Amino acid sequence: MLTNTRKILEEKQAVLLPKVTGRYSFDVMLSGLTWFQVGGPASVVFKPEDTADLQYFLKNKLNSLPHFVIGAGSNILVRDGGFNGAIIKLGRGFSKILIENGELIAGAAVLDRTLSMFALQHNIKGFEFLVTIPGSVGGAIAMNAGCYGFEVKDILSWVEIVDQNGNLHRLYPHELKMTYRKSVLPKGCVVVRAGFRAEAGDNVDIQYRIQEYLQLREESQPIKGRTGGSTFKNPDSEKAWKLIDEAGCRGISIGSAKISEKHCNFMLNTGGASADELERLGEIVRQKVKEYSGKHLEWEIIRIGQSSELKKSAA
Ligand SMILES: Cc1cc2nc3c(=O)[nH]c(=O)nc-3n(C[C@H](O)[C@H](O)[C@H](O)COP(=O)(O)OP(=O)(O)OC[C@H]3O[C@@H](n4cnc5c(N)ncnc54)[C@H](O)[C@@H]3O)c2cc1C
Repeated sequence: MLTNTRKILEEKQAVLLPKVTGRYSFDVMLSGLTWFQVGGPASVVFKPEDTADLQYFLKNKLNSLPHFVIGAGSNILVRDGGFNGAIIKLGRGFSKILIENGELIAGAAVLDRTLSMFALQHNIKGFEFLVTIPGSVGGAIAMNAGCYGFEVKDILSWVEIVDQNGNLHRLYPHELKMTYRKSVLPKGCVVVRAGFRAEAGDNVDIQYRIQEYLQLREESQPIKGRTGGSTFKNPDSEKAWKLIDEAGCRGISIGSAKISEKHCNFMLNTGGASADELERLGEIVRQKVKEYSGKHLEWEIIRIGQSSELKKSAA
């Protein structure tokens, strides 16, 4: 009976959506799509078949239906009330990697680690740092991801995006104004593919760097935990973790939301935390740092959706 009711509701919702070749799933808990493993439901999750399918969806969906793209979900905190709109999740149709005209070209759903290992196999240098970043190519471009002195903008040649009206464009790094953990992408666009400079390197040297970065990461960060990576950006010439430590926030917690003992710019869901607990904990840290050192911490983690309180009051 419940299954029938659900099916009828889904069919009703589907009528309002463009007829795509990809897949719609309704009322999907976004906790399953994020590293933190928290977050309420999205009205619909759309997995486009390919770029043309994504273009068709964005051209024909109702303007009143907001959309948001999630990559590997390693830098995102989805609030408990979920996302009232369409989540776009790129899959197999965006997972190719190839070498063409001296460029390494990767679909936006390719994982950074996969790209790094592909570069190693083909003796291409400059991608070593990506082996330790758990995101996707789309997320790496949106966040200008980086570590150990390197960032995506150092190797990027171009990106292909589908804008919010469904049109395909090629953009170049200077147009994205890439700075520390930030790219200025057109509002509502989806990165579908990117070209990177493929510079020949020495295989042994590349392997050595990869091992070195993996080891450094293992030693210094709680990489196996339910986390979103660095919670806050480093303020000018200062380390966020140091300011957090000095303000006495290492290891503090609210319920199962905890500031990591190992690296105190990482927040952890130690099991059963809510997004609300994690966000409140982050705000407490910001407040304590402000009080102690006068420094303003800016969230690096992207927070989306509505709180469960807001959802209740809207119902
Ligand atoms: C253990 C751990 C370690 C980490 N270490 C680092 C680190 O060293 N350096 C670093 O920079 N980051 C680090 N991060 C954070 C994170 O991995 C990066 O920011 C990563 O680039 C996010 O990619 P993602 O695919 O997971 O994006 P998501 O978290 O899914 O999304 C992040 C943002 O990118 C946007 N986005 C994702 N895909 C697309 C797309 N196709 N088109 C347009 N926008 C898109 C989303 O809309 C969102 O705004 C770490 C995270 C964890 C959990």
